[in-house]
Order: sequence, then structure tokens, then C-alpha cells
Amino acid sequence: MTRKVRVRFGPAGIGGVKQAPKNLENYNKKGLRAAEIPFTYRVWMNNNQAKEIGKIAKKFDIKLSIHAPYYINLNSQYKEKVKASKKRILSCCEKAHYLGAEYIVFHAGYYVKSTPKGCYLNIKNQIQQMQKVIKKKKWKVKLAPEITGKKSQFGSLDEILRLVKETRCFFCIDFSHILAREGKINYKEIFEKLKKFKYVHSHFSGIEFTSKGERRHLITSEKKLKELLRWVKRYNQSITIINESPSPLKDSIKALKIWKSLN
Ligand SMILES: [Zn+2]
Repeated sequence: MTRKVRVRFGPAGIGGVKQAPKNLENYNKKGLRAAEIPFTYRVWMNNNQAKEIGKIAKKFDIKLSIHAPYYINLNSQYKEKVKASKKRILSCCEKAHYLGAEYIVFHAGYYVKSTPKGCYLNIKNQIQQMQKVIKKKKWKVKLAPEITGKKSQFGSLDEILRLVKETRCFFCIDFSHILAREGKINYKEIFEKLKKFKYVHSHFSGIEFTSKGERRHLITSEKKLKELLRWVKRYNQSITIINESPSPLKDSIKALKIWKSLN
């Protein structure tokens, strides 16, 4: 393979608007080249602030992405909830445009009373509607529905990859969510499905789960990081790996160290 490997590590979080410049500089110093901005509870910056933070991220070669609010259900039976969900995601798209962040990660919805197929079709339809807005606004961003950690939540690996194929949206592979959802993880099978993509946006952290799926994120173990990174290396996969553990900066640095030791 001649493809140049580009592996970026970084935490979820950049601090608030005031701390972001210093934090991004610090990430760069530590060798980290990515960060995901958590708008998980609300979109907390204006367009000018986004422009400024975007400039600084560019200067320090930090690839930014955005995590949209948790309060999203594109498969809700209530029209106003779907509408509010789309509004939240599109508001993230606008900020991403000014930040120079390409991917907007979000949990697309819940099956609630629909069949998985009905849920898939509803979510596909809503994604296509948002894509029309993105195109019209000329925002250079991509929707990236994430693999989710609960069985009641839409977003298995195959569901997400089917959305990618049928809507040309992007994706976020949360490896720990696959583990929580399925109770096991088959890296070979996953990387076989991912290898056709030039680039993968992903999350990886420690995770506690039950038979229903994800409970909470934990500190990321060295052993589990090593296992994932060996597969990244084996498949020569270009990838960004965002850490969402309770200590995402430390864990990102840990991951980078392990990556260096493997190369
Ligand atoms: Zn997420």
C-alpha cells in the first residue's frame, strides 16, 4: 500500500471560548492533532468566536470536529421534535462552517415504536433534508451520524454504513459503542468494512456496559488501545481517534505514545 497514513489523536473538549486558544496550543505541544468540540448540551459559541477558534486550530494543525447536542431524535413520532432536532444539528453545521470543522457527529435517534427499517427510512429522509439546507447555505461540512452504544438507539455499524452509501453522508465509528452494543468487538470484520474509506472519523474510550448497552465512559486501558491501534496499523487506515473518557487529554496522549511505540 502506498497510501500515506495519517493518524490523529485528540480529546473531546477544548475548554470554553476563553480557554480554547491556550488549550489548542497545548494539544499541539503534546503532539495531538485533533479535538472534538462538545456542543452536547448546547451550542455555546457565536460565529465570530467560531472563526477565531478555527484560525487558531488551523495554526496549530488541530483538526476540529463537532459533537451535536444529545437531545436529538430524527425518528420521533412528534413532528416538532424532529424539527427541533434538525435545527440543533444545522446550528452545529453553521458553527462548523466558521470553525473550519468538517464533521458534525450526532446520535441520530431512537427506534421507539418503529421497526428498525421504518426508523432507518425516517432518519435517511431527515438527513437528506438537512443535506439540502447545507448545500443551499454552501457550508463545507458533512453530517456524521455516530454508531451508538445502546440497543434502543438507532446506529449499528451496518445501519450507519448504509446511510453513508445511500445519502453520501459521513460517519463516526465509536469502537467502544460497538463493544457496548454488541457485547463484543470483531476488529477484523470492522476494518474490512472500513478499508474502502480514505479516512475514518472515530471515537475510542473505555466503557462500562450492561446487556442493554452503554452505561458510561471509563479511563481507556493501555491494553485496549494497543489492540485497536494494531488493527489501524495492519490496515494502514487513515483515521482520527477522539477520546471521550473522564480524562480525555491524558488518554489521548497515552494513545499517541502507544501509536508511536508501534511504529
Ligand atoms: Zn457520541
